[in-house]
Amino acid sequence: TTEDQWRPFNRSRVYMADLESTLHYSLRVELAAHPVIKGEALSTLQRYFSVLAKYFPGRPVVNNLLKSVDTWLKGEKDTELSYSSLRDALDNTAEVPNAALPEGVRWVGCQGSKPHFRRYPCGMWTLFHVLTVQAEEAAGKDPQEVLQAMRSYIHSFFGCQACATHFENMAQESMSHVGTLSSAVLWLWSHHNHVNNRLAGALSEDPHFPKIQWPSPELCPNCHGVKNGEHTWKQEELLTFLRSHFSSERLLSDYLE
Ligand code: FAD
Repeated sequence: TTEDQWRPFNRSRVYMADLESTLHYSLRVELAAHPVIKGEALSTLQRYFSVLAKYFPGRPVVNNLLKSVDTWLKGEKDTELSYSSLRDALDNTAEVPNAALPEGVRWVGCQGSKPHFRRYPCGMWTLFHVLTVQAEEAAGKDPQEVLQAMRSYIHSFFGCQACATHFENMAQESMSHVGTLSSAVLWLWSHHNHVNNRLAGALSEDPHFPKIQWPSPELCPNCHGVKNGEHTWKQEELLTFLRSHFSSERLLSDYLE
């Protein structure tokens, strides 16, 4: 079938199709496992939509949808929400002109060599790297806003329990020390590399996409240095690279519906 067809892509670029697919999967599949959302999960959902509405660098039609759901969630005074009412807000966009979130997934940069590799978890990392970079560009007020939204989303909703536990442990150790928007970008980059390191060679690793300390010297030659015979990351060059790699201007729109 066409869904299984490989989509050629550039490994050194980020694709909007992966970001939209991640939103579809998160909002219409992962959250659907929670028929009633209340308490901590409800504030998590509100924070998630708040950062999406502020920083998701989407097409106007998608941004309109995220903003309208965010406004609706902020106005909800009930202490609990049924998933079906969220689903209605996502899908019944007749009242909001030019607002919609495309149905279904079209993985591109997050395709795996087998169906159980990559895809949504890859999309989740990519989404939050993009959001930390967007928050810095937009000069957001709270340096931890995006990281804490990610932390609570992973904790409350991410389908992989072991992943959530690992991530929460890392967050508890050091997330509260993040004091600037650029250190938030670097925090996520370095902790993603911790995870890569832990998972290198594991069964979950796609052999066609080995876990490396990213970015490779090919992708960012200037990011790598040597000091006293040891490898070092050059933070300023790295920040420049991350800002460009995950910038909205460089997102590719191939394979969008
Ligand atoms: P991913 O690690 O998903 O990365 C996606 C893309 O981001 C890469 O292709 C690359 O282009 C880029 N990238 C890679 N490293 C970095 C970096 N440091 N900074 C910025 N961009 C980078 N799986 C487990 O088996 N056990 C776990 O405990 C676990 N914990 C997870 C925790 C979280 C919060 C998430 C989102 C996922 C977790 N996963 C875990 C899944 C795992 O990290 C990968 O997402 C999955 O194996 C798919 O790997 P991938 O090859 O697509 O690369």
